[in-house]
Amino acid sequence: MRESAGLEVADCLCGNADEGTVKQALDPIERGSWTYRCCPACSLERLSPRPSISAMGRYYPDDYTPFTDPAPHQARRADRVKRAVYETYFATPAERSAGVRRFRPLLAALLLPLRQHSVLSFDPPALPRRVFEFGAGTGADLLEFRNAGWEVSGCEPSAVAVAAAAAHGITLQQCNAEDAEVPAGLSCAYMNNVFEHLHDPMAVLARAHANLLPSGIVVVVVPNHASWAARIFGSQWPGYDPPRHIWGYTPRGIQGVFERAGFKEVTVSHKYPLSTYCWANGLGAWRAEGRGKALRGRMARLLGRSLLLGGFASTSAGAGDYIRVVARKA
Ligand SMILES: [Zn+2]
Repeated sequence: MRESAGLEVADCLCGNADEGTVKQALDPIERGSWTYRCCPACSLERLSPRPSISAMGRYYPDDYTPFTDPAPHQARRADRVKRAVYETYFATPAERSAGVRRFRPLLAALLLPLRQHSVLSFDPPALPRRVFEFGAGTGADLLEFRNAGWEVSGCEPSAVAVAAAAAHGITLQQCNAEDAEVPAGLSCAYMNNVFEHLHDPMAVLARAHANLLPSGIVVVVVPNHASWAARIFGSQWPGYDPPRHIWGYTPRGIQGVFERAGFKEVTVSHKYPLSTYCWANGLGAWRAEGRGKALRGRMARLLGRSLLLGGFASTSAGAGDYIRVVARKA
C-alpha cells in the first residue's frame, strides 16, 4: 500500500502491482472523476488511488439507497415474489406453503426467470441456520433469512441504516465489516452488494472462513464488471459508483479470490435477469447528460423497451448485471 496526496494506491488482490489498463468513472453523487485499473493477470478492477477507510464516511450520504427502506407497498410485493421463489426452488418440503405445494410445477415454470432473484436463492446448508451479514443496510435481507427460520446477526457502518434495522427488530453492530465481531459457529456469512465496497476483502473473507462451521457457506452478490451492461454503458454503468465501489469483480476474478481464501466448491451464477436497476439507472444518467438531450431521450426510451430481452439474453449468455458466488468451507 502506497500513499499519494492523501489517497492510497493499492495492488490487486492477486498481488499484481501492474498498473494495467485504465478506466475513468464518475462519482454519481459528487461528480468527481476516479480511476479504475484492470489487472492483466486476474481481470479484477480496482479503484486506485482510493480514499483511506477512515475517510470513507464522507462519501456515503444518509440518503444513499441501501440506507433507506423501500416504500411499504413495494416491499410487500417484492417480498411475496421472493418468498414464492424461495419456496418453489430452494425450501425444504416442510417449509412450503399449501399453495406452493399444490402448484409447484406451474410456479417452477412461471418463476424460472426470477429463480436467482431471492436473497435465499441457494441450497441452505444442512447445518443449524445461523447467518452473519456484513453491511446489512436496513436489515431487509436479514428479515428474509429470519422468516426462513435463520438466527440472524450482522454489522453496518451507517447509523441511519442501523436505526432502520432496529425498527424491524434487528440489532446490528455499528461498524465497518473489517472491524466486526463475527460470532463463531456460523453456517452462512452473507454480503449483498457489499464485497465491492471493502478496503480489505481478503481479511473479511478470512474472518468469515474462521467463524464458519465445517461445510458452512459464504454467499456474496456483486456487480459483474464483465456484464453486457458494463460494456454497453461503460463509465456510466452504475456498477462503478466510485469511490464507494473499490473493487470491480468479474466471474473469473472473483472465483480466484475465493479459491485463494481457501474456499472449495466455488460456484458463480448470474442474477437479475430483468436488470432493471442497472440498465434503468444507466439509461437515466446517459440521457440526462451532454449534448443532444432530445435524441438521447428518444433513444433511451427505445433502449428501455429492450430491457426485458437484453436482461434475459445477458443472463443466459453468462454476462448478467450481478453475480452471486456461493462458496463452501472445505
Ligand atoms: Zn489481479
